[in-house]
Amino acid sequence: MVGRFAPSPSGRLHFGSLVAAVASYCDARANDGKWLVRIEDVDGSRTVDGAAEDILRTLEAFGMYWDGDVVWQSQRAEYYQIAIDDFLNRDLAFDCGCTRRDLEGQTTYPGTCHFGLPKGKEARSVRFKTPNEELIWVDLVLGPQLSKAGSETDFIIKRADGYYAYHLAVVLDDAAAGVTRIVRGEDLLDSTPAHLHLQKVLGFDWPEYAHVPLALNKAGAKLSKANKATPVEIHDAPAQIALALEFLKQPAVTLDDPEKMLAEAVANWSL
Ligand code: GLU
Repeated sequence: MVGRFAPSPSGRLHFGSLVAAVASYCDARANDGKWLVRIEDVDGSRTVDGAAEDILRTLEAFGMYWDGDVVWQSQRAEYYQIAIDDFLNRDLAFDCGCTRRDLEGQTTYPGTCHFGLPKGKEARSVRFKTPNEELIWVDLVLGPQLSKAGSETDFIIKRADGYYAYHLAVVLDDAAAGVTRIVRGEDLLDSTPAHLHLQKVLGFDWPEYAHVPLALNKAGAKLSKANKATPVEIHDAPAQIALALEFLKQPAVTLDDPEKMLAEAVANWSL
């Protein structure tokens, strides 16, 4: 059993990401598994200086120690490009010449470049030829899931600005690290079919998925770095861990130092 926490360093750790960290940590440890940490800085334009280091420091101060070395997506471009080249060679992906403007008003990609670049268009991004296939899987929290054939568009795997897309990076990195169970926030449930399609084409086993509820702010919006969710403070670790466990509907643990609280949470853990 190998679990992981994969924060994007677009800001400090807030309560929403703490919930995902605590859930993936407790779940891995409760199954005698490894718990890995990957910094998802694949989109350099969203990376905030110092945020990754701050997140790692916070995880340690909260008693969540990871196994092995932290993986940084920004250092794996070569690996992502090999996959892109391989996809293009095998006709599993295509160069797309569409600009944002070309696609204005479209809710899904209309397939303009699927069978080749139309005359006058230049390659900008690379899109995956999403198989027209139904997917059925069981989320360990949410139960049976279905993605109807044709419901996923040909999504971007390499962006026009040269950055590799999250869907590709996450799938390659989880497989390379041997991740067997992904515990993350429910906001990523919609991304799962894209990941399953990629894993299938790449010949990877599907990991198990468990999507945990999202912490919302008072206005009912997802806590995110973008809407300036308040970061969790190290001196407040015990109270924050208690709140995260309560949010995850786990039995209450005695307020103590973070490591002891997590050990108790691991012993009680149930998905
Ligand atoms: N990097 C993503 C985030 O911070 C998480 C990706 C994942 O867990 O698959 O929301």
